[in-house]
Amino acid sequence: MNEAVLSAAERKQAHEANKLSKRLHRQVGQAISDFQMIGEGEKVMVCLSGGKDSYALLDILLLLRQRSPVKFDLIAVNLDQKQPGFPADVLPAYLSSRQVPFHIETQDTYSIVKRLIPEGKTMCSLCSRLRRGILYRVARELGATRIALGHHRDDMVITLLMNMFFGARLKGMPPKLVSDDGQHVVIRPLAYVAEADLERWATIREFPIIPCTLCGSQDNLQRVQIRQMIRQWERDHPGRIDNLLNAMGHVVPSHLMDRDLFPFKTLTPTGVADPNGDRAFDEDEQACDGTSGVRSVRFSTMRLSEESPIPFSTN
Ligand code: SF4
Repeated sequence: MNEAVLSAAERKQAHEANKLSKRLHRQVGQAISDFQMIGEGEKVMVCLSGGKDSYALLDILLLLRQRSPVKFDLIAVNLDQKQPGFPADVLPAYLSSRQVPFHIETQDTYSIVKRLIPEGKTMCSLCSRLRRGILYRVARELGATRIALGHHRDDMVITLLMNMFFGARLKGMPPKLVSDDGQHVVIRPLAYVAEADLERWATIREFPIIPCTLCGSQDNLQRVQIRQMIRQWERDHPGRIDNLLNAMGHVVPSHLMDRDLFPFKTLTPTGVADPNGDRAFDEDEQACDGTSGVRSVRFSTMRLSEESPIPFSTN
C-alpha cells in the first residue's frame, strides 16, 4: 500500500477514535449528571475486573475528573479471587503506569465456590455474593463514598428483559442504588454507553484484558440468548436498544397493571378534560403496519453534538 493511502486510512481511523472518545465521555458525563452520581469531595471506588467494561469505566472517569469542576477522588480496586491462571501482575502494572491509586484485595473465593457448588452447577450466584460482601467491606475500609461498577446500556436492557421473561417482573438494573446491606451508594456511570462502543474503545486503548473464563464457569445461557436477540433487533431496527433503555426512564404507572403503584380500584372520572389523557383506544392511532404512533425518543445525550463533551456538574 502506498504511503498516501496509508496515511489517509490512519487519519480516518484517528478521526473515528476521536469521535468515539467524545461520545463516550459525553454519555458518561451525562449519566453522572442526570443521576447525580458523584458530588463534590466524593471518593469513588472503581471496581476493576480486568474486563473491557471496567477498564473503560476507569479510563473515562480519569479524563472526566481532570475536566470536571466537581472535585472527587478515584481509587481502583481489584479482587483477586485466586482463579487458576489469574495474571496477578497485569492490573498493578497497568494502574501504576496510569498513576492511579489502587488496592488489590486477595481473597480465595474460588476455592470456597468450588468446594460448595457441585460440579456442573452454576457458580456465579455464590461467587457474586461473596465478591459483593468483600467489596462492600473494602469500600468501608478505604472510606469510599461511591462504588462504581462497569455495567453498560446493554447490560441494563438485558436485565430488564430477563426479569420480564424469567422473573415476571418489570425490573431493571438501576444507574444508582443503595447496596443491599444499606451501607453504600453504587453507581453505574456507563448506563448510557453501548457495549459495542466499549469493545471498540478497548481495542483503541489497548487495555490489557484479563480473560473472564478463568473460573471455568459458563456465561448464563439465557443472558447469552437475550444479548444475541437485542443485537439482532439493533441490526434490523437501529435505535431499538436506546428506545428500550429510554422506556425505563419513562414509566407510566396508570398504563401498567401494578395496583400498588396506581389506585386502579378506586379510580373515578375526574370530570376535567386532559389533552394528554388517555383516549381509551390508543391502538386506533397506529397504522396497520404498527409503525405510526411509535415514539422514538433518545436520551438527551444522544442529541448533543459530537463536539461538545460536557463535564458533569452536580446541579
Ligand atoms: S463467571 Fe466465574 S468469576 Fe464470574 S461470577 Fe461466575 S463464577 Fe464468579
